[in-house]
Amino acid sequence: MISIKDKSLCCGCSACQAACPHDAIEMRTDVLGFPYPYVDVDRCVGCGLCVRVCDFQKEHVCEPASASSQVTVSAIRNKDASVVASSQSGGVFSALSDEIVRKGGTVYGAVIGDDFVVRHERASTAVECAAFRGSKYVQSDMDGVFRRVREDLQAGKEVLFSGTPCQVAGLQSYIPDRLRTSLHTVDFICHGVPSPAVWKDYVGYMGRYGSVSSVCFRDKSEGGWKIHKESFLYDDGKKRVRETFRVLFYKNIMLRHSCSACPYHLGNRKADLTIADFWGIGEVCPEMDGDKGTSMVIADSDKGRHLLEEAAPSLDIRPLAVSESFLLRKNPNLLRSSKFYKDRERFEREYDRYGFLHVARKWGDMGWRYKAWQLKVFLKNKFGKR
Ligand SMILES: Cc1cc2nc3c(=O)[nH]c(=O)nc-3n(C[C@H](O)[C@H](O)[C@H](O)COP(=O)(O)OP(=O)(O)OC[C@H]3O[C@@H](n4cnc5c(N)ncnc54)[C@H](O)[C@@H]3O)c2cc1C
Ligand code: SF4
Ligand code: SF4
Ligand code: SF4
Repeated sequence: MISIKDKSLCCGCSACQAACPHDAIEMRTDVLGFPYPYVDVDRCVGCGLCVRVCDFQKEHVCEPASASSQVTVSAIRNKDASVVASSQSGGVFSALSDEIVRKGGTVYGAVIGDDFVVRHERASTAVECAAFRGSKYVQSDMDGVFRRVREDLQAGKEVLFSGTPCQVAGLQSYIPDRLRTSLHTVDFICHGVPSPAVWKDYVGYMGRYGSVSSVCFRDKSEGGWKIHKESFLYDDGKKRVRETFRVLFYKNIMLRHSCSACPYHLGNRKADLTIADFWGIGEVCPEMDGDKGTSMVIADSDKGRHLLEEAAPSLDIRPLAVSESFLLRKNPNLLRSSKFYKDRERFEREYDRYGFLHVARKWGDMGWRYKAWQLKVFLKNKFGKR
């Protein structure tokens, strides 16, 4: 049976829980809100299915990046400007999901619930799929999702599942070969997933200004696609724009343990299509640059190429060849895992002990340390190095 002794060896995909025929596995969250499997030994019969289905703990071969290798990618933007505006980069995902629901299929993706918890949901109309647009920079709750995907496939439906590379790998491993023909998967270049517990506390903290009606993790209307700021909309119509979560995210201080040992890099992707922000697009295709957003898409399988061709009429697509060194410079997480901040363990301990405000002041942008750093950067830019 599955047992997690080293947290970096479990991505929390929930495949083991879904696979257990005796419902002996429960996903329990740690201090930061990340789920891990726990086995009820009274129910477990020792069949070993949970261990066999775990893709994350299998041997993975990741070729090291070489400066000369070329990678075939596409720069893509949805032709519908309103879709681009509400998507995180170029809105390619909506074109893919529209195609699946047009054929009577179902789509699974991450939404922000009314309680501001990020979770995976099922959609069967284009209107429902709109809730998947936009990146939610926190690990999504997968409760019951893999089994629902399997039920849809068993009922003969086409299914499109989008998620982190490890969620896709877990699902692919859980779904039997005979059902996989109708399963389409999309992952993204993944920096890592931040803590759901810190997110929950942050939303609670922002509630001191009034009743929050909606949130956006990376609000394009605040300076464009390349700017990353989170926004909170209140019942009274006011909007507050902040950077606290972004600062903690990119400090790599509240990511899941497994994100520092992620095996799903280029050459070991399990999805049919990989989508991402096309950082550096101005260097390789200036006419697709701008502040609206451009997606990068990598087709990892023939099935992915075919789905992209079907969605092509609603997309502006430019095929390109870029070097791995370009990707390493502009979007390194396609080739390697994020390196954790030295205080990752301390952050977790102090968050547990003293709570959100303490860590936001100490490592986020709420305290004097961040203000002092900002002043230093300002002075350096203004007067140069002295
Ligand atoms: C945690 C995280 C880390 C990322 N790291 C990078 C990175 O390092 N480099 C990079 O280029 N891009 C990264 N991305 C992807 C990027 O932000 C955009 O999602 C991508 O460019 C697609 O944009 P789009 O306009 O085509 O799709 P959109 O229409 O915006 O669709 C986004 C898709 O992502 C899925 N999704 C959103 N949030 C989650 C979540 N929490 N868990 C699982 N699935 C989710 C949705 O289901 C949807 O299908 C990351 C996304 C997330 C959620
Ligand atoms: S990685 Fe997924 S399948 Fe493996 S132990 Fe963790 S939750 Fe279970
Ligand atoms: S060994 Fe079998 S019964 Fe026990 S937890 Fe794993 S899948 Fe369930
Ligand atoms: S970095 Fe890897 S382990 Fe972490 S969420 Fe992304 S795919 Fe999963």
